[in-house]
Amino acid sequence: MIDIQENISLAPFTSFRIGGNAKFYVEIKTIEELKEALSFAKEKKLDFYVLAGGTNLLVSDNGFEGLIIRMKMNEISVEGGNIAVEAGAPLIKVINMAAEQGLTGMEKMAGVPGTLGGAIRGNAGAFGTEIKSVVKTVNAFDTEKMQLTSFNLEDCDFAYRTSIFKINKNLIVVSAVLALQQGDAQEIQKLTKDTIMKRAGNGLHGLKSAGSYFMNPTTEDEKMLTDFEKEKGVPARNKTLPAGWVIEQAGLLGKKIGGAQVSELHANYIINAGEASASDVIMLVSYIKQQVRDQFGIQLAEEVNYLGF
Ligand SMILES: Cc1cc2nc3c(=O)[nH]c(=O)nc-3n(C[C@H](O)[C@H](O)[C@H](O)COP(=O)(O)OP(=O)(O)OC[C@H]3O[C@@H](n4cnc5c(N)ncnc54)[C@H](O)[C@@H]3O)c2cc1C
Repeated sequence: MIDIQENISLAPFTSFRIGGNAKFYVEIKTIEELKEALSFAKEKKLDFYVLAGGTNLLVSDNGFEGLIIRMKMNEISVEGGNIAVEAGAPLIKVINMAAEQGLTGMEKMAGVPGTLGGAIRGNAGAFGTEIKSVVKTVNAFDTEKMQLTSFNLEDCDFAYRTSIFKINKNLIVVSAVLALQQGDAQEIQKLTKDTIMKRAGNGLHGLKSAGSYFMNPTTEDEKMLTDFEKEKGVPARNKTLPAGWVIEQAGLLGKKIGGAQVSELHANYIINAGEASASDVIMLVSYIKQQVRDQFGIQLAEEVNYLGF
């Protein structure tokens, strides 16, 4: 039996710590509970939205007039090189479990916050590893057909920060099987720990943010590509530039509107530097996009998701 609550503040469930109330809110631990929640939304003719770790989300100051389905299915089990994981399991738990079992393939994602389901939907990645590199199958609940569907890796349409689960809003990821390789447990644990330390060292994890706000853009501007390569000493692969570098070139490091600020440490991080409202963030985001477009002809696109706008 699900417990549907009313007028729940969503800000504490997001890493931005921003946003108004949800009209209805429910936590689900099983597929049966998910079905019940969806039936409730259908009966009441409400929109619904899946909220997991809340680490890639900006919630409107007006909140959400529908039903928030908080993903709390979080079992993890290991069999040989395969790890079966439910969508609400924290990614770090999965990575630590893999390391304990001497399974390699996910170490460089250690420290990416959020859940497995969120990572699959957005094909999360870090230091050259994306979740797609370890996905074997994904089970998703199709909210239109009200049935479970299994997706092989090829069916998931993974690409840079996207997947079929992002494109098709009717699909809720409920579990996945990850396939990893057997390796040296000590080496795997060391790389996992080193990756976490490396991320901790950049000073960004204690901040109220949603991680990288924009996706890395591509450009045909040869001068910009060459300037980047000269400055950083690395190639701009596939004519892609880091969004943070582009924002920095636009002179926006530290730019502040209300309580929202472009982080001084990383220009692709927008932080809640005090009592930022979602409107502050949106105004800052619009300003950044306009400046980058005017100065460089580059149209930035958000990696962060919006709810209630
Ligand atoms: C400090 C910091 C650092 C970060 N670093 C990285 C990084 O290095 N690499 C990276 O890729 N990301 C990074 N992120 C972003 C974030 O961690 C990832 O996008 C993460 O995968 C989001 O997972 P979540 O569970 O928090 O999703 P949420 O924020 O809860 O949701 C994000 C979106 O996914 C949808 N969703 C969530 N669960 C499901 C599900 N089960 N089925 C269908 N849809 C679902 C939601 O509806 C929403 O639209 C960072 C964020 C922060 C705050």
